[in-house]
Amino acid sequence: MLSEFDLIKHYFARPAATAAAALADPRIALGIGDDCALLNPSPGMQLAVSSDMLVSGRHFFADADPFMLGHKCLAVNLSDLAAMGAKPLAFTLALSLPEAKAEWLAPFSAGLLALADRYQCALIGGDTTKGPLNICITIFGEIPPGLALRRDAARVGDDIWVSGTLGDARLALAGYWKEHPDVIRMEAREHVQAAQRMHQPSPRIELGLALRGIAHATLDISDGLAGDLGHILERSGVGASLQLDALPAGPILSTQAPDIRRRYTLSGGDDYELCFTAPAENRAAVIAAGAASGTPVTRIGSIEQAAGLRLLDAAGQPVDMHIHSFDHFTTA
Ligand code: ADP
Ligand code: MG
Repeated sequence: MLSEFDLIKHYFARPAATAAAALADPRIALGIGDDCALLNPSPGMQLAVSSDMLVSGRHFFADADPFMLGHKCLAVNLSDLAAMGAKPLAFTLALSLPEAKAEWLAPFSAGLLALADRYQCALIGGDTTKGPLNICITIFGEIPPGLALRRDAARVGDDIWVSGTLGDARLALAGYWKEHPDVIRMEAREHVQAAQRMHQPSPRIELGLALRGIAHATLDISDGLAGDLGHILERSGVGASLQLDALPAGPILSTQAPDIRRRYTLSGGDDYELCFTAPAENRAAVIAAGAASGTPVTRIGSIEQAAGLRLLDAAGQPVDMHIHSFDHFTTA
């Protein structure tokens, strides 16, 4: 059995060769090993800080693939930076583990650190304790003062946009839970593809950076578009209309019945796409930001004065749908 210190040294502090690369980041003055890490944020930058905790049995299955889990727990934190337009800087990892097993730790740290390297976001410290499997990351990013993409910045007349596609992660969950077996038709191969979205989300960092100065309000969709957009509406004191059939469905969800497609694009969680508003005169700039960052963007509605969220069909007629967004304390 590994000791706590061997475990940290072996799986989370980088071996000499890669540590040299990680330490080449001049923003990290001191990483893992002391009582605190020391950061040198780029001069003049504001720090963006966020935490996300993943709990076994709540956010992931206890037997989840450890490589994918390592990726996912950092991806959801990077997604918060993306939603602010912040550039990744560093993160800490607080880990509660039932046992120190190499078969789990090696792939977990490989998945975690591969994504960290991709976004030059160094692991600079954390805490490790024995207990139920629980993974909490605190992430730090940089943003020029005044350019953060805040939830309270939507204005009447703004377009509403979403990145990528929605709903495949929710469809994968329906597959695991065997929901609506009479309606949902999915081959095993398609389920694996949809599940990829759920287990290995892509944080939209490049798009978030490209939207600085172009988008108004922005957030990442973790609990479902309708509920998450509701946070923008509430914080900005506005309402919105959404074109239900313009919502971009993931490739597997696109093959499903229209009702499932509408439901899962509108309220399926775990997509980690960005939803953002931007003034109509910035349409070309939004499309250019999408192209420059290699991220598809789709215009799905508009911000209006009247409070509330209205859903419209392709003919512009209102659609009455009960919207259910995920909440830890009210959702079973
Ligand atoms: P302390 O005694 O101050 O609580 P620890 O013994 O918990 O410090 O940790 C020793 C060093 O290892 C610290 O620099 C800490 O930030 C780092 N560390 C502990 N757990 C992790 C982890 N899971 N990932 C990365 N660094 C960690
Ligand atoms: Mg400690």
